[in-house]
Amino acid sequence: MESEQLRIAMLSVHSSPTGELGTKDTGGMSVYVRELARELANRGHVIDIYTRLNGSPQKQIAQLHENVRLIHLRAGANGQMNKMALYGHLDEFFMELEKFKARQSLHYDLVHSHYWLSAKVGKWATERWEVPHVFMFHTVGAVKNSTVGSENEPELRTTMEKKLAKTCDRILVGTDEERGHLIQHYGASPKTIGVVPCGVNLDLFHPWERTQARRRLGFTQDESIVLYVGRFAPVKGIDRLMEAVAHLRHHKQLRLVLVGGDGNAAPESQGLERLARKLSIQECVTFVGRIEQDSLPPYYSAADVLVVPSYYESFGLVALEALASGTPVVATKVGAMESILRGGTIGQVVSNGSPRLLAKSIEKYISGPNGLTPHEVRASVLRFSWANVASAMLDQYGTVLREYGFNSTATGLGKGHEN
Ligand code: UDP
Repeated sequence: MESEQLRIAMLSVHSSPTGELGTKDTGGMSVYVRELARELANRGHVIDIYTRLNGSPQKQIAQLHENVRLIHLRAGANGQMNKMALYGHLDEFFMELEKFKARQSLHYDLVHSHYWLSAKVGKWATERWEVPHVFMFHTVGAVKNSTVGSENEPELRTTMEKKLAKTCDRILVGTDEERGHLIQHYGASPKTIGVVPCGVNLDLFHPWERTQARRRLGFTQDESIVLYVGRFAPVKGIDRLMEAVAHLRHHKQLRLVLVGGDGNAAPESQGLERLARKLSIQECVTFVGRIEQDSLPPYYSAADVLVVPSYYESFGLVALEALASGTPVVATKVGAMESILRGGTIGQVVSNGSPRLLAKSIEKYISGPNGLTPHEVRASVLRFSWANVASAMLDQYGTVLREYGFNSTATGLGKGHEN
């Protein structure tokens, strides 16, 4: 789909692509939306991303790049809102969207919704506008419920997701596993699901010289650094990472560095601090707080290993970022970890995720040189560029647009997929 300019409406209602990464509801999906939009725009397509005005002072329209606009629409009070409360305001969001579209005389070829709340709006929009609806779940409520009891997702979500799984024109997932989940839990038709692995910004994430990275961040050269990067949510399994670190206390120079979270006063951070004290590892845990993504590369390069201890991930972008920065990864068997870490040289997947087994795997990377240069580690993820994601996405758009009678021969549409 290189020759025809597409006009795409992306919906990311609850989470802004320019939000604070690493906080409660803002993480991989925001990165995904902004990176994909930028890459599609680089190829001449025009993208409007619609998100909810959430209290931060924002102009209604922000120009993120040439051909990428971020449009803030009002839904409910202008402030932070719980995701389930937001559900009750989706109709307002849709009305604002319609008004904006009419005022600007906009036409879209396709709607790409991110997360189930957006897909609900996307469904109304595509029915009214008679264009295809592409939907990415990002996380699947039913799978979250079956893997992490403490993140019990309400029935409303799973019921809505089930309906959306059966009615959207095309569903895109990052892994074959997620495809299987949608078929198993929601009865989605295999034919409608396309698999497009996620990407990493290879310009931003590249190996720094370790000594320099540590000096810059104030870490000493002789400590063994185990790094976590991400939101502080129960699903992320930081508790079992801490337990794993407790098994490694005999390593005198061990440091667990936690990047992300909503600040020291947030209940999640306080809970983790309490756990660290309970496990008697508080002296070797550093809470860095959330970091702007542009400042993350030295953290990855300073670390001996990044750990992804999650109970559930739909993909797991931080693993790609660490590897692109030359740092190996130890992960539980979630998201794309098995396909990214296949072969076991650049990292390890710990199948049952027990703290003791996590500790064993982490130990391999903190007990001296692992025989790999950072550039060898990075080489393993060069195929995950956002440019490749955009190409695969355009192929998927091509498939669904052709079903809507878009003239593929005249427009140079990709061949598309017959899953
Ligand atoms: N991130 C960040 N600053 C932080 C913590 C996380 O920029 O303090 C970014 C990180 O670089 C990654 C994203 O947030 O791109 C997290 O994505 P991931 O897929 O790992 O987790 P998700 O948030 O989707 O569960």
